[in-house]
Amino acid sequence: MKKSVLLTVCAITLAACVLSFTACNATSQYFVFGTSLEIDTYGVGGGDYADSVVEYMQSVELAVSAVLEGSDIRRINDASAGESVKCSDVTMELLAAAQRVYELTDGAYDPSVYPLVELWGFSPDKFVAGKVPEKLPTDDEISAVLGKVGFADCFEVDYETATVTKLRDGAELDLGGIAKGFAVSRAVSMADGKKALVNLGGNIGAANGTFKIGVAAPREYSKSYIGIVPLSSGYTMATSGDYEKYYIVDGVRYHHIIDPFTGRPAASGLISVTVVTSDGALGDALATAIMVAGEEKGLQWAQEAGVGLVLVREDTSVSTYNVEYTPS
Ligand code: ADP
Ligand code: MG
Repeated sequence: MKKSVLLTVCAITLAACVLSFTACNATSQYFVFGTSLEIDTYGVGGGDYADSVVEYMQSVELAVSAVLEGSDIRRINDASAGESVKCSDVTMELLAAAQRVYELTDGAYDPSVYPLVELWGFSPDKFVAGKVPEKLPTDDEISAVLGKVGFADCFEVDYETATVTKLRDGAELDLGGIAKGFAVSRAVSMADGKKALVNLGGNIGAANGTFKIGVAAPREYSKSYIGIVPLSSGYTMATSGDYEKYYIVDGVRYHHIIDPFTGRPAASGLISVTVVTSDGALGDALATAIMVAGEEKGLQWAQEAGVGLVLVREDTSVSTYNVEYTPS
């Protein structure tokens, strides 16, 4: 197979994909959820706020990481069918949020997509920026793995007893498409009157101020951003795209957002989706779902959920809904 390739954006660049245009007093940088966390603070007490945010985010990561040994999600993924796994409160909260978006999007956002993410080489333990896999999955492999995907059919979640039971051997959960937005929303609510901007791998949250945020250009462009959106206090902005984690084989781009129905990287005609909402978990997961399902469904769900959208199509034209968007 002729392998061509490849431009892959590293985690640090990912964090810079949405740019703030406001000067701040202090910036703190960390590494959480396999990506960079940047916290801009204004005025006194910023350092303490940043420390408490990173501590909180690390605690969420310890509970819901798909790779960290001993996390709730890792214990679920390592369990056999029929085994009930007791989970922490934060995992149950995230699963409830994930289930809501799974239902809203008719399964386009599916937290049980992990076996496919692994098959395509995009799980955090497998993906290496700039590396092309030795072979692509075959149709038979994809069909076999599709049998282990489908949240409603593969998992039973009991919110009363805080337990998750796998219904099919080999089924696995992945909260990677929702956890960062959830954590950013929580960080915003921890600000306690302080002005701050939190950016966790492209999930941005604004506290006690309005910020102008640049939407990253998904392809080569004269600037690194294609337009600007104001983000008011209490709001979050989540971007999903095909340009963050990907490889190119024989001129075809394979990226990390997987269509749970076809078992292949999403091919909806959209290359970037930004969702603006006060509910960071919803925004994060909805951005992933709209990458899968495309513009028409995206608009429908945005109306139903009352969120704002910036969509970038394959030809790099932009469509917006319910946001103040200024092209750059
Ligand atoms: P980011 O990598 O910036 O967090 P997303 O929020 O779009 O981007 O999340 C993508 C991640 O979510 C993937 O790396 C994968 O772990 C997971 N994922 C991929 N496809 C889906 C899907 N259809 N539903 C739910 N999660 C998905
Ligand atoms: Mg997402």
